[in-house]
Amino acid sequence: MIIARLSDLADKAKCPRLVVKVGSSLLVGPDGLREAWIEALVAEIAVLRAGGQEVIVVSSGAIALGAKTLGLDKGGRGSLADAQAAAAVGQIALSGLWARLLGQHGIAAAQLLLTLEDLEDRRRYLNATATLTRLLDAGAVPVVNENDSVATQEIRFGDNDRLAARVAQAAHASAVLLLSDVDGLFDRNPKDPAAKLLPLVQGVSAEVHAMADGGSASGLGSGGMTSKLQAAEIAERAGIALVIGNGTHDAPIARVTQAGVGTLFLPKRKAAARKAWLGGRLRLKGVLVVDAGAAKALAKASSLLAAGITAVEGEFQRGDAVAIRDAEGRVLAHGLAEYDAGECASLQGRNSRDHAEILGYAPRSAVVHRDQMVLL
Ligand code: GLU
Repeated sequence: MIIARLSDLADKAKCPRLVVKVGSSLLVGPDGLREAWIEALVAEIAVLRAGGQEVIVVSSGAIALGAKTLGLDKGGRGSLADAQAAAAVGQIALSGLWARLLGQHGIAAAQLLLTLEDLEDRRRYLNATATLTRLLDAGAVPVVNENDSVATQEIRFGDNDRLAARVAQAAHASAVLLLSDVDGLFDRNPKDPAAKLLPLVQGVSAEVHAMADGGSASGLGSGGMTSKLQAAEIAERAGIALVIGNGTHDAPIARVTQAGVGTLFLPKRKAAARKAWLGGRLRLKGVLVVDAGAAKALAKASSLLAAGITAVEGEFQRGDAVAIRDAEGRVLAHGLAEYDAGECASLQGRNSRDHAEILGYAPRSAVVHRDQMVLL
């Protein structure tokens, strides 16, 4: 099921998992948090969830809000130290508000503070994936922000647009909706009366980049169109649709999905993208040899369970790429191991029931999860 139009974002079959990124200028106004607007957005999120869709929120606004509370100038972005202090103060209130408003709909909010590095290191990426997946399975709405108070490089170059795309990739989401203060991508500076909104972009080409004009309109966030296009590139490579929509309306999600106003960046084909990533770019650190039963299960898109493993070769860490081979030496798949080589060896051939006792800690659901595997 591929997302081909804006209304697909509200379609459970085409978009079972949606990341909604909310920019600083939407969350924080001259008087602090824009609670009424956030309340309306949360009501829209509750409707999506009631329709069977899973939602992850990426919420900006910590620096802008904290700067107000502490009385820092330049929206808290005058220096790195200011931004870090502002974020620490703003984040508490922001998290509290999301928790309270989602709670009014009987939805548990879950706070994750990540740095870009958390999603670039394979092991940390897998940890984030596992946590996000577990939270969504448990019915919570993860509310993600960058960990601005400890991030250093990231806070200077970081923005929540790219973070949202990376979170979507980690969470295996179908689409990302970037809510901003513009209707979408225009073919030239939107202040130009001749500017036209592009409803659909197929591939972020050099020509598309040339349409973006840099800086954020509001001056509150660190985004702007450039970081949105970078986010679109991350998303399209990961096989995820990305939409830029205008959040300065009372029901911004409906404005995108029902009124059809926004720019949709189409994803590239997912299988090819993941195959390129797993099959091409990663060095394989080891081999898991599997029995015929496991080989059959893999072909039906199941995860690899320890019970079907007959041998473990090589020295690898959790999160490293490994080959999955059958007894005849045929390579069936590449995937990322959820355990290191020693743990795999101690779990091989053993039923999942025994794993907690063998490991001494709560086991993962599989040795290689199907989401982290490419069949060859
Ligand atoms: N993480 C920042 C904050 O919470 C926002 C980053 C951005 O503007 O994209 O304030």
